[in-house]
Amino acid sequence: MLQSMSTILNEAYNKGYGIAQPDFINMGMAYMYLEAAQRANSPVILGFGEDYLKHSEGVTWRHLVKLIETLAEGYSIPVVLHLDHGSSYEACVQAISAGFTSVMIDGSALPFEENMEVTKKVVELARPVGVSVEGELGHVGKGEDTFHIGSSDESKLTDPELARIFVEQTGVDALAVSVGTVHGEYRGKPHIHLDLLADINKKVQIPLVLHGASGTGHDIIRQCVQRGVCKVNIYTDLAKVLIQQLVPDLKREKPDLITIIENVHQAVVEELLSYIKVLKVDKG
Ligand SMILES: [Zn+2]
Repeated sequence: MLQSMSTILNEAYNKGYGIAQPDFINMGMAYMYLEAAQRANSPVILGFGEDYLKHSEGVTWRHLVKLIETLAEGYSIPVVLHLDHGSSYEACVQAISAGFTSVMIDGSALPFEENMEVTKKVVELARPVGVSVEGELGHVGKGEDTFHIGSSDESKLTDPELARIFVEQTGVDALAVSVGTVHGEYRGKPHIHLDLLADINKKVQIPLVLHGASGTGHDIIRQCVQRGVCKVNIYTDLAKVLIQQLVPDLKREKPDLITIIENVHQAVVEELLSYIKVLKVDKG
């Protein structure tokens, strides 16, 4: 059964480890992520963006939820179905009505007060029905957009004091912060503001979320987890591995479809497993 992410994130926060949120665009990818999580005996948060519906096997949102529910039944780990970057209150209503167990309301491009207002409204809707809510303050912008689906812009770092007010006023279960990561690939070397992250963590005391973790490096991610990050969003590195595996396989003289699919599957499972292992760190 799918579950909300608040229980697993709070446990992760208290024990000092992180949980991966890989984004899927079809059932094949969701299946790869479930297998990786099962192999590591770890919970997993399956992230799905509003725009992905046209690429997935789900005809409607409700249909998509049913497909994921059925797929997840084969695994003994906690599985969360999370709306990634919900663009509006209406999008969150749609996801919650369809059966998503968690939503992100991304008001990070809005003025502070408006972001708080819409986030609070989503929490008021979601909490009574047991759905968890992630908000974002500051703005994680876009690097190179080779693999990212959707649009974004320049980053704006999170202010720790505003984060404290935001969390207090909205009651979100988790807060996405902007501390130097980007969506897509980095232009140049990543520079992650670990001190800023530690300040935010001290002020808000709830699970923090790192968007755009791909390419940041395992060591830095580990240090982020030691500073309150409990949910780590990964897409670009998984897409990269998938394509890197696919291209040479397709160029073989006699490409065999079953082998191609199997190789892609294994490559993505291994890549996600490497992240899941990194997230299982002790508090420093
Ligand atoms: Zn994101």
